[in-house]
Amino acid sequence: MKVEADKVVQFHYRLNDSEGNELESSYDNDPVAYLHGHNNMIPGLEMAMTDREQGTRFSTVVVAKDGYGERVEGSEQRIPIKHLLVKKKSLLMPGAVVSVNTENGPRPVTIIKSGRFNVDVDTNHPFAGMDLHYDIEIIDVRDASDEEKAHGHAHGVGGHHH
Ligand code: ZN
Repeated sequence: MKVEADKVVQFHYRLNDSEGNELESSYDNDPVAYLHGHNNMIPGLEMAMTDREQGTRFSTVVVAKDGYGERVEGSEQRIPIKHLLVKKKSLLMPGAVVSVNTENGPRPVTIIKSGRFNVDVDTNHPFAGMDLHYDIEIIDVRDASDEEKAHGHAHGVGGHHH
């Protein structure tokens, strides 16, 4: 079965920057699962996945504009610590990436300065402005259930749990 709209795709990946430094890898955990064609992934990766067969390994470079976008200057914000998903003081150090609860789900931000009740953060995605070098291994492709299509995301291992 190949990757197309309304398929649930399970894959493993390694993500490196242009210098070959590893940024992320899924291999220590379950493969990632997503519902194809529902904007669940960065556009460049979804494009590169399209029409690939289960079992395929491939490498692709996603440029910043098709990834997490270009960095936007002046994207500093003061956020109450109670809106952070991680509240442990010792983890709120400058440079640390934490998740903020937003209307559209959790969103990563980078701590600039930490105060008693608030943190100053840079709201650029940590990978904004970067060309992303992916090594992908497609583990499984299956039809999405009606429920998954209605929800717009994958359920089960590597997907959403309700
Ligand atoms: Zn759901």
